[in-house]
Amino acid sequence: MAKQMIRIYQDLDFSDVKEHILEYGVLAGICGKCKEMNIKLNDHTCSKCGTEFKYVAFQNVREHLPKMIKLHAERPGIKFVDHQDFKRIEAETKARSILG
Ligand SMILES: [Zn+2]
Repeated sequence: MAKQMIRIYQDLDFSDVKEHILEYGVLAGICGKCKEMNIKLNDHTCSKCGTEFKYVAFQNVREHLPKMIKLHAERPGIKFVDHQDFKRIEAETKARSILG
């Protein structure tokens, strides 16, 4: 059986996602909680605020698919979040909090 990475949708508590997400860019990641930069993909927690990374959002999945597959094999508990979904909901949440 050939396993493939296929996106699925799940209802998640966005405040939990935001607190425990690692946004992974070109070469390093950003902590969703404190915005610390230069976080490595192998880091389980943020070196600055200590939050545990339970979610990872790759900015460029096409390019980082091998990294994603490797990370999934090493840490099966990690959830992969679609980066566009994350940014869209983050913006909506921010707009709603400004409008009060
Ligand atoms: Zn942090």
